[in-house]
Amino acid sequence: MTAPNDAPRRRHARTLVTSALPYANGEIHLGHLAGAYLPADIYVRYLRLRGEDVLYICGSDEYGVPITLTAEREGITPKELVDRNHASIKKSFAGFGMSFDNFSQTSREIHTETSQTFFKDLHDRDLFRQKTTEQFFSPSQDRFLADRYIEGTCPKCRSENARGDQCESCGSSLDPTELIDPVNAQDGSPLELRETTHWFLPLGDWQKQLEAMFDAHPEWKDNVQQYCRGWFKDGLEDRAVTRDLGWGVPVPLPDHEGKVFYVWFEAPIGYISSTREWAAAQIGQDDQGDPDSWRTWWQSPDTRLIHFIGKDNVFFHAVMFPAMLMAHSEDYVLPENVPANEFLNLEGQKLSTSRGFAVWLPDYLEKFKADPLRYTLARNLPETRDMNFTWEGFLARNNNELGNNFGNLINRVFTFIHKYFEGTVPAWSEADSTDLDRAALAEVEKELENWAAHLERFEVKAAMEAAFRAGQAGNRYFDESAPFKSRKTDLERCAQSLGVIIQILRMLAVMLAPVTPFAMEKLWSWLGMESDLWRGGWDEGRRPIPGGRPLGKPEILFPRLEEEQIREEIDRLQALLGD
Ligand SMILES: [Zn+2]
Repeated sequence: MTAPNDAPRRRHARTLVTSALPYANGEIHLGHLAGAYLPADIYVRYLRLRGEDVLYICGSDEYGVPITLTAEREGITPKELVDRNHASIKKSFAGFGMSFDNFSQTSREIHTETSQTFFKDLHDRDLFRQKTTEQFFSPSQDRFLADRYIEGTCPKCRSENARGDQCESCGSSLDPTELIDPVNAQDGSPLELRETTHWFLPLGDWQKQLEAMFDAHPEWKDNVQQYCRGWFKDGLEDRAVTRDLGWGVPVPLPDHEGKVFYVWFEAPIGYISSTREWAAAQIGQDDQGDPDSWRTWWQSPDTRLIHFIGKDNVFFHAVMFPAMLMAHSEDYVLPENVPANEFLNLEGQKLSTSRGFAVWLPDYLEKFKADPLRYTLARNLPETRDMNFTWEGFLARNNNELGNNFGNLINRVFTFIHKYFEGTVPAWSEADSTDLDRAALAEVEKELENWAAHLERFEVKAAMEAAFRAGQAGNRYFDESAPFKSRKTDLERCAQSLGVIIQILRMLAVMLAPVTPFAMEKLWSWLGMESDLWRGGWDEGRRPIPGGRPLGKPEILFPRLEEEQIREEIDRLQALLGD
């Protein structure tokens, strides 16, 4: 049985998924996770469950001024800083269960080579324009300022804290010279315009093609459609691809001392570098031996490319990078979708890393397990509007939903079977099913189909609602079929009920696996499943588990959390709000 909406995806042989490269100037926080990371990991795990050929690529974004400034402050080199932060980010992501196939760094040689080669391809065919322009120079810091270090009033919405590259209030992509009353964002000092020569990508040359790409994808999310249609309406302008900075990928042309690529030109190419690095690392392994195999993922028309991002990255992933791919002389695939999420607020307030008003992943993982946070965020993702994370909400999701709705059911059933049926699936058959049995199985099967259909459309929240309802159906069935009563009166009936519930648990294991992978890998093995969950577990997950199969010994999958465990977190944030 195949859901009708599977059809469009099956035309593709493979799926390449990327998450926005995290900037290696600090740790990952909940806002990042809810935007570009968790939804992508859930989607990738879903595809692996379905047995699809999928590659999940990411890496840290390591160039640009903020890194230089932090390194200066700490008295270390930028490379030392990014290597340290890269290692820490990679460790946190692993603890959170992010299942990247490769997590690279943009400061590596392979990225320098890849981005320089990419630049030269466009440069040699005269696709850039060289222009001498006036750029903002900070006399107080004796350097040209990157766009994001310039602050002023947004010319479009009049918000006062717009940055030189973008206004966060209205989402407009900006050039710093458009800002009203621009100043150095760091010290508020005045700026001077000075002449400098740079290369520009004339995005307008690709606007027709970009609009055609949008026309071909009416299913893209409203936020992406609306931002981009707005920019198309204004007309796309030339975007600089080089900068006057010390820390970046050098422009590979003579007489370009001190010029590097603009991070938004080279960072997306990081997806390609990371794929190349992955391909090279496959040599000697059983299924791959070709460093050129990255091309299959980027240049084969039957690849689907999906970029998961936060809404602040829409321009670069839905306009600029596709234009770069269109401009390249080799045929690159264009994004099949760019699922962009809105922002996550914290305790009803905007996150602020500068004020420390955030929850950082390494801190979280020191105290709690990954699954409850993955679950809470998945239930609350900012898919179509900004959402809010609260610690009270986290506690409630953990105890009431993971604990009561799922964990208790799993635990009761396994404990009961170990106690009264020697730990093997009791004899049951579909032929002996009562109406109650059939209705319960049909309901959970239907939710499983709903779940899959929602994930196909990147609707994680709706998929999780289906999983939650399936859990409720399982609990209702357990109470109504009451094996704890029939054990004393009708042992066959009792066995039948437990057999049915085991089938429900099997489907719950599938539905919860991408979101709570640590717990569900255990449940999968306790159920005695033979296939690798992440290599097509879906097929076995839809086949009945026969009576007589030995089951594993359970443990508590989702331990209860107490109020005092979150009190400290709430107090810390409240104290910041009181300042
Ligand atoms: Zn604005």
